[in-house]
Amino acid sequence: MDYKDLWHKVVENIIKYYGEAIYKSWFSKIGFLEFSDNIIILSAPTNFIRDWLLSNYGETLLKLWQQYDSNIKAVEIITKARDVAQLENIEGTSEDMLFSNRMGEGIDNPSSNLDLRFTFDNFVVGTPNELAYAAARAVAESKTVVSESNPLFLYGGVGLGKTHLMHAIAWYIRRNNPTRKVIYMSAEKFMYQFIKSLRNKDVMSFKEKFRSVDLLMIDDIQFICGKDSTQEEFFHTFNALIDNNRQMVISCDRSPSDLDNIEVRIKSRLGWGLVADVHSTTYELRLGILASKLEQMNIKIPQNVVEFLATKITSNVRELEGALNKVIAHSTLVGSEITLANTQDILRDLLRSNEKIITIEDIQRKVAERYNTKISDMSSPRRIRSIARPRQIAMYLAKILTPKSLADIGKKFGKKDHTTVMHAIKKVEELCESDIEFREEVNVLTRILQN
Ligand code: ADP
Ligand code: MG
Repeated sequence: MDYKDLWHKVVENIIKYYGEAIYKSWFSKIGFLEFSDNIIILSAPTNFIRDWLLSNYGETLLKLWQQYDSNIKAVEIITKARDVAQLENIEGTSEDMLFSNRMGEGIDNPSSNLDLRFTFDNFVVGTPNELAYAAARAVAESKTVVSESNPLFLYGGVGLGKTHLMHAIAWYIRRNNPTRKVIYMSAEKFMYQFIKSLRNKDVMSFKEKFRSVDLLMIDDIQFICGKDSTQEEFFHTFNALIDNNRQMVISCDRSPSDLDNIEVRIKSRLGWGLVADVHSTTYELRLGILASKLEQMNIKIPQNVVEFLATKITSNVRELEGALNKVIAHSTLVGSEITLANTQDILRDLLRSNEKIITIEDIQRKVAERYNTKISDMSSPRRIRSIARPRQIAMYLAKILTPKSLADIGKKFGKKDHTTVMHAIKKVEELCESDIEFREEVNVLTRILQN
């Protein structure tokens, strides 16, 4: 495929999508540079245009390319000042890293890839992330390597603050200990630069660059799984740094032991230091995060709207922030007040995708699985305890987790009438009162079903 030609097709689509005006203001200024490792590289004249395009049109741009080649996994825009020749020169690829002592740039330098908002001050700590936070903080504050946390391995689902914590470490060191040399880089960029250096027969300077740092942070390490030579190179870098008493911080979407397609020796070494997981948020943490964002923006919105968001947008912090921003943007644009009613309206699509619909069948299946009974026992008339108790629990869960009536629930459990269901619910409630272990059991099942 000729990607340069494809670019013209993509441009046609952009015009169709966004119109001439937007095309002229933004897209007409960028050009196709190259295609490499399934990454499209475009060039833009300034950092500002690059950042604007990526944050406003980045996703669409990627989708437009993927229409023509589904293997494309990223679109990158680099600024013309650093053209390809420079990009291939390792020293010039400062985009994803920061040499705190050499660049001497201000903290708000736009060319740095660190997000200004991602500081420790802006990070809200709660039970789900307190270990990860404390560990990150310790690495940032220490003047030397924290050997019991080397590497510090942060893992957890998307949008839960891993990248935020890594940037926070970099900001902190930049501010308080600027002679420490820090590199922060996504695993994807690591691979990309490694391949460039191979192509340029310049692997030595690639190696040197990484081996001369005090702290190396690699984000989203899962990306290099299955990529053998990059993995190998990463492992050498990793070993060299650890052996020389330098700090490593790594993030991943899963724990080291859950990584597939990675060599066993690498996998086991990743878990040698401190493995800290970032759990899904709790309601309290979500409230805290919303409060903190509102304070930062100096905006007040009704408390029932805040609680509504914290209750409904449970997937991750990124979506929660997105929802809040959407509500605020809407009210600013339309000039209307923020109320619960219009919030529900504005977020309708988002809420739908966040809503998990639990059916009685799901409940029966999960409960039967957990107690090792047959699904058919859920609707059988048998009263032996080992079958009747799980059935009662399932009826109770059906009542609290679905909108079904007692009569409807009864029907699904083998045409029992509503008094039987009522009796079951009462029984389960009583047991929850009197027996802590039983209550915990019911809680566990509830969580399993809600996730
Ligand atoms: P991850 O790297 O785990 O996918 P990010 O670090 O990119 O997630 O976080 C997604 C968004 O959520 C960012 O805007 C980040 O600032 C915000 N965020 C996540 N956790 C917190 C937190 N505890 N306090 C404040 N903001 C948070
Ligand atoms: Mg991240």
